[in-house]
Amino acid sequence: MNMTFERKLTIPKEVKEMYPLDAAGKALVEKRGEEIRRVFRGEDDRFVLVIGPCSADRDDSVLDYICRLRDVQEKVRNEILIIPRIYTNKPRTTGDGYKGMLHQPDPAARPDMFKGIVAIRELHMRAIAETGFLCADEMLYPENHRYLDDLLGYVAVGARSVEDQQHRLTASGIEIPVGMKNPTSGDLSVMMNSITAAQHRHTFIYRGWEVHSEGNPLAHAILRGYINKHGQSLPNYHYEDLTHLAALYAESGLQNPGVIVDTNHANSGKNPFEQPRIAREVLSSRKYNPDVRRLVKGFMIESYIEDGAQKIGGGVYGRSITDACLGWEKTERLIFDVAETV
Ligand code: PEP
Ligand code: MN
Repeated sequence: MNMTFERKLTIPKEVKEMYPLDAAGKALVEKRGEEIRRVFRGEDDRFVLVIGPCSADRDDSVLDYICRLRDVQEKVRNEILIIPRIYTNKPRTTGDGYKGMLHQPDPAARPDMFKGIVAIRELHMRAIAETGFLCADEMLYPENHRYLDDLLGYVAVGARSVEDQQHRLTASGIEIPVGMKNPTSGDLSVMMNSITAAQHRHTFIYRGWEVHSEGNPLAHAILRGYINKHGQSLPNYHYEDLTHLAALYAESGLQNPGVIVDTNHANSGKNPFEQPRIAREVLSSRKYNPDVRRLVKGFMIESYIEDGAQKIGGGVYGRSITDACLGWEKTERLIFDVAETV
């Protein structure tokens, strides 16, 4: 093989022993985790917002942002359940560019995978300890999920991973809600097949072990828009998209039908300022049709402290270095609007 085996990395069990979650943290994971699961089981009709920056590029601004969410969460606690995004590993369209905190705890420095593992674990642990939130991350590398599995409230399988067998089988062994995104092509059968695979039991190889998974009844859909053959972004959050998905669910026999609508990515054509408009439309579709209301469990919103995006090294505190985000003031207004409308 044409690669250098640099060093053997510490396994998740040992990293957890080195950086353990304390008793208060464990109790919080149990309590908040159950609150989140109840929503996806349809036992609590609060509306979910999986919200935060496209990528968690640095601790200080990400924790600052999540602390701001904490205050808003208090004010809307009867209507909304907030799950902050701490996305520590990023899929890249061509494979090049910033791959997230896991690879580069310092975005301007060379990749250091062990430092990265520690950095992402510490960031998720600090979010729990300092804000009481359980956060969301993308499961980009299924083998790495166990470095964080005791800390997360929600996991997404991205548009570029959703057709992959190892992602699906790993998702079937996870005990928290897993959102399966529609693929970049928009083919909903790929997403529905992925949800089916995740809800079923499997035997497979995971981290060198033969394992048996129990199936994840909380695997569900995320609609993120898609790219057509001309490379144009097209939305899939309109009323007809939602009723179509409800029909697919009805004929599927899947448990806990649900969808999170991603208001950015191809749904907004990567224009983050369209997110409030998209949210408003989906909430009105929800009001119009009780089936759509039951199906749409929440939104995924890309939001940070500052509007827009910058290049790596741009140096603006709280501005995204990957997808452009909605800034804090607009975000706060959007959350209060959702709470009033929902
Ligand atoms: C994201 O949520 O930032 C992301 C990369 O999403 P997708 O997989 O839909 O492109
Ligand atoms: Mn993004």
